[in-house]
Amino acid sequence: MSNHLVEFSKYGPSSVLQFVKREIPKVSGNKLLVKNAYAGLNYIDTYCRSGVYPVPLPFVSGKEGSGIVTDVGPECNKFKVGDRVVYLTMSGGYAQYNLVSPVLATKIPEGISLKLAAASLLQGLTVLTLVEEAYPVRSGDYVIVHAAAGGVGLLLCQILNRRGVHVIATASTPEKRRLALHNGAEFACSYDEVPEFSRQLTNGKGVHASFDSVGKDTLEISINAIRNGGTFVSYGNASGKIESIPLSMITSKCIKVVRPTLFGYLDSEETFDRYTSKLWEEILKNKLNIAIHHTWKLEEAKEAHDKFQSRATTGKLLLSCNE
Ligand code: NDP
Repeated sequence: MSNHLVEFSKYGPSSVLQFVKREIPKVSGNKLLVKNAYAGLNYIDTYCRSGVYPVPLPFVSGKEGSGIVTDVGPECNKFKVGDRVVYLTMSGGYAQYNLVSPVLATKIPEGISLKLAAASLLQGLTVLTLVEEAYPVRSGDYVIVHAAAGGVGLLLCQILNRRGVHVIATASTPEKRRLALHNGAEFACSYDEVPEFSRQLTNGKGVHASFDSVGKDTLEISINAIRNGGTFVSYGNASGKIESIPLSMITSKCIKVVRPTLFGYLDSEETFDRYTSKLWEEILKNKLNIAIHHTWKLEEAKEAHDKFQSRATTGKLLLSCNE
């Protein structure tokens, strides 16, 4: 039995992704072996592949997966063979089999499929930590959601809407903006229009917060749109990394800057379990819409990355791992 997976040995464009055959890893200690059904794609996978975020090489892509437990280490008592699980990981999602730590893994509740679990975990938890930890939103706030038709963006619009927040969505095309409006955004405009539009909607004050995953291209746009005392939540770099923010840029408006990461917030099993419970409730009880754009086969990871980076996708992208 072998383990097909997607790895890269040098940084670069999508062509560095190699579909290769390896041994199935052996369990030990507290680890569990998962036969993956699906791996979620996340924009961070492109940062790791291109070297924006350095990783140890060779590196197996993929920060989340869902599947069936096929073996457990002698110290693992949280899971048993046959359990349906979904997990976050530092690497290894793009594989038929992955050795997983139990700390950021959980059993999938009834009513949630393996596909839905892989499509919702990383981006859903990101959104919940953004609105509860990075900038704890209040009903009546005006906030900007950049790249609002993306995987994180569509979930963020819905969760903010449910919390009584006025969402001003940005996206690159009218179709994407329409999708954001169908998913909880109250207003939508292009990136360039958003500072002026935000002031018009708020009696000249500006927004309480900007949730910005675009990075370099929208730094000034976000700062211009935020009100005095507001918060700049910089949580991604789709257009390139922000190397530094001069204090002079945020001083006159007393703007708070936060640079959150999901893995930074999920610093214990208890925190992970608390947020996953909230996510399942949002999906099962509150009918959070998880929009899956497309599912590629594992060996098609290169095509999936190309599509992702061409800005032609909306919602969640998946790989099926054991077809
Ligand atoms: P998306 O589905 O949102 O895809 C990225 C989107 O960014 C594109 O569709 C595009 O939307 C927009 N974009 C703007 N400028 C560019 C550009 N120059 N090149 C490419 N895309 C651009 O991806 P995800 O939902 O996976 O992730 C969204 C963001 O959230 C990413 O930046 C990611 O790194 C970040 N993230 C951060 C986490 C954290 O812990 N800090 C956790 C999870 C995600 P449009 O065409 O509308 O402009």
